[in-house]
Amino acid sequence: MNDHAVLLDGVTRTYGRGATEVTALRQVSVAFTSATFTAVMGPSGSGKSTLLQCGSGLDRPESGAVRVAGQDITRLPEKALAVLRRDRIGIIFQAFNLVPSLTAWQNVVLPTRLARRRPDADRVRELLARVGLEGREGHRPAQLSGGQQQRVAIARALLGRPAVLFADEPTGALDRATGHEVLALLREAVDRFGQTVVMVTHDPEAATWADAVLFLRDGQIVDTLARPSAEQISARLGGRR
Ligand code: ADP
Repeated sequence: MNDHAVLLDGVTRTYGRGATEVTALRQVSVAFTSATFTAVMGPSGSGKSTLLQCGSGLDRPESGAVRVAGQDITRLPEKALAVLRRDRIGIIFQAFNLVPSLTAWQNVVLPTRLARRRPDADRVRELLARVGLEGREGHRPAQLSGGQQQRVAIARALLGRPAVLFADEPTGALDRATGHEVLALLREAVDRFGQTVVMVTHDPEAATWADAVLFLRDGQIVDTLARPSAEQISARLGGRR
């Protein structure tokens, strides 16, 4: 038994060939401990998305290993990987990625239904209430604010009790106050429910909600700060806000 929700061990991912070859991740090793909240930052092109994609099994590294809840996912056949992604990994995106024709409730239970399982109605109700959507279960995405849509996406990601929740710029499309609510919710998922969250963000304010901030540059982790202030983060990023 280990307490790492996700472990990357010497992960290298290269795109293209020859003159156009780009090493998006270069021998990256990092452990995301269970029940922690980590922010991943760095300039555009530094490898943040690739790290998230390799960590969540959406992409495979050329070398190195990725372990999710102790299981090496790098050599899993496609079908087994799809099942593991479905059952153990939650992802939320900047653009929410809800199905417009479905209600909040139907969006939350969609992955469970696609897995041909019966959703636990009590848990769906409880999750929607916990993310502040009580009474709005029957609303479609267009009838919800951006923040509410992201909260539906979080409830959907949490329904399956994933080993890890990856978040790709989850507040990127939200105003500051609404972004705050979403970050508070992710923080609560970690503190009260032992969820593990790994969040890519450009926003130093958003990153202050994390326990630790990783800084990527040219496909490598160049620094890690524990519980930094927004000022420390901005300074580390090079003074840009
Ligand atoms: P970030 O998320 O920090 O902006 P990425 O992980 O998207 O960085 O990209 C890291 C590097 O890999 C960049 O140079 C990018 O151009 C390259 N890259 C990412 N995805 C692809 C791809 N599918 N094909 C070719 N190059 C890619």
